[in-house]
Amino acid sequence: MLILMSSEHTKKQLSDVLARIRKLRLKPHVIPGRQSVAIGITGNRGALDPHLFDVMPGVMEAVRVTRPYKLAGRDFKHGDTSFNVGPYRVGGPGLVVIAGPCAVESEEQLIRIARAVKKAGSHLLRGGAFKPRTSPYAFQGLGKKGLKLLAAARKETGMPIVTEVLDQRSLDAVADVADVLQVGARNMQNFALLKDLGKLRKPVMLKRGLSATLDEWLMSAEYLLSEGNAQLFLCERGIRAFSDHARNTLDLNVVPAVKELSHLPIFVDPSHATGVRSRVAPMARAAVAAGAHGLMIEVHDRPDQALCDGPQALSPEDFSSLMRDLSAIAGALGRGLAEPVFRGRG
Ligand code: PEP
Ligand code: MN
Repeated sequence: MLILMSSEHTKKQLSDVLARIRKLRLKPHVIPGRQSVAIGITGNRGALDPHLFDVMPGVMEAVRVTRPYKLAGRDFKHGDTSFNVGPYRVGGPGLVVIAGPCAVESEEQLIRIARAVKKAGSHLLRGGAFKPRTSPYAFQGLGKKGLKLLAAARKETGMPIVTEVLDQRSLDAVADVADVLQVGARNMQNFALLKDLGKLRKPVMLKRGLSATLDEWLMSAEYLLSEGNAQLFLCERGIRAFSDHARNTLDLNVVPAVKELSHLPIFVDPSHATGVRSRVAPMARAAVAAGAHGLMIEVHDRPDQALCDGPQALSPEDFSSLMRDLSAIAGALGRGLAEPVFRGRG
């Protein structure tokens, strides 16, 4: 059960509701929101009667929640979540594409690739400054210098920036520059980091963990939502399975599953999901056909020299031709590539 307090509720009305919950020997969880407060209830075995609460002064609505996540599910919010990133609407009808190199390597590399992906029609620019690498000996990213280069690339191209936050220590520095903070697969259950990200009022992209179930993924989303950050979208990036022909197995099935269960936008990253350049475009096309709100694609103009993930990077030319396909597929489904909702700096 989730109780939504009206925006004008008094402290006394809130404490009366909490007292009633405790009297039933159940546990209330106060969830502060942007406009008001919600109270989640746990500990009940069977369904609770909403009339126990919706008759109380200050209560706007009491809704039954059948899933462990309360705020991420459709029980709580029937309509789709959407919000602006720069001039583009994430979660709206237009397909939003994020493209760029795996890692920021140098100013020249980033600006060259940023210009190329912008020319091809990408909406947002990606690039890792802090990289989570399996090996401690592999390139770890340029760190703060990489963030500066991302800010310069945004200035140069007008493209909003998507970049990964690895830990709480670098959170403030990343939040200063990023238009979207990316939580990588390996951090999907870094609950301390998720709580801090929930306190921000900036968009966050939460990638699916390497072996996370849909429930676990949505519970991680719940960490951000329950701290009050509602600008959140998900990104499927492939999971570990037994197939040995690709880096990961792209679970496209999860796209309609997320859309059924949650109001959060869902993106697909076919680059990490396949790890193989030749498979990226087919899976990107399939993701749009499956109903993804957007895509994230790695692009490099000199993949043989890339410091990270060269084998899965598309050339700017291949990315450009993929963008034409994506536009056609989205068009066939009554959608299209996202258009600016207001004039950006680009
Ligand atoms: C990335 O997008 O740069 C990345 C490291 O992806 P993932 O966390 O999905 O492996
Ligand atoms: Mn990568």
